[in-house]
Amino acid sequence: LLQVASVAKAFGGNKVLQDVNLKIGAGEIVGLLGPNGSGKSTLLNTITGFEAADHGHIVYEGQRIEKLPPHRIVRTGIARTFQLPSMPKKMSVIEVAMAAATRAHGVGATLLGTPGAREAERQARNKATALLDQLLLMPVRDLAASALSGGQKKLLGIVCALMAEPRMLMLDEPTAGVHPNLRRDIVNALQKLNAGGMTLVIVEHDMHFIREVCTRCVVLDRGHIIASCRPDELAANERVLQAYLGGG
Ligand code: ATP
Ligand code: MG
Repeated sequence: LLQVASVAKAFGGNKVLQDVNLKIGAGEIVGLLGPNGSGKSTLLNTITGFEAADHGHIVYEGQRIEKLPPHRIVRTGIARTFQLPSMPKKMSVIEVAMAAATRAHGVGATLLGTPGAREAERQARNKATALLDQLLLMPVRDLAASALSGGQKKLLGIVCALMAEPRMLMLDEPTAGVHPNLRRDIVNALQKLNAGGMTLVIVEHDMHFIREVCTRCVVLDRGHIIASCRPDELAANERVLQAYLGGG
């Protein structure tokens, strides 16, 4: 489904990604892990068009995407969330969710005010309502999105990504800072999406989460992929152990 080939990215002299090669098949749930600063978020940023790779190429369903801007990549079928979501100041929670659908599906200005646009808006509102309900955000649907707590913004980020109806969803630490009860809801929601055919890539530090949810783990260390294995094989992987113990 997705292939990352020889991707490199540096900020100044800081080589954040070095010769990253990665293949992700349809239906996988890939956990992306590694120490702080190892390049996980940067890898998501280069795949989703928020950072330009210095080198290498990225192919999604046979199409080169490494030079596409973020909104074009969403339309090819890849959506994402952010580790630290920022929300527009003057929009309510439901408006932010609905705007994500408009952006993803590119409802053109020519449609504005037409029956087609009204129908699209009605569908977006229904979908947003269902997703907000699923992630327990209905009580705050009319609040300013920027006024939400950190955990609530994270959940709204997931709602926005799902509004795009992606085939591949990339999540940057979806459960960090989220209450345990709600974490269970997120895990359930993700497993349901995967059962429905969605491919997931999840940046995560919580090994319990990784073992429970992921079908494969990819481990980054200082910009290199040092392991790609099943979650239950991690504990026996020398390089992973060294990286995590700081011995590498
Ligand atoms: P964490 O687990 O803490 O979220 P991470 O693996 O996601 O870490 P990245 O956010 O990808 O790490 O950062 C990797 C390195 O790239 C860090 O040294 C960081 O300072 C640097 N970096 C990331 N984005 C930028 C940027 N826009 N400009 C300059 N340096 C950056
Ligand atoms: Mg990160």
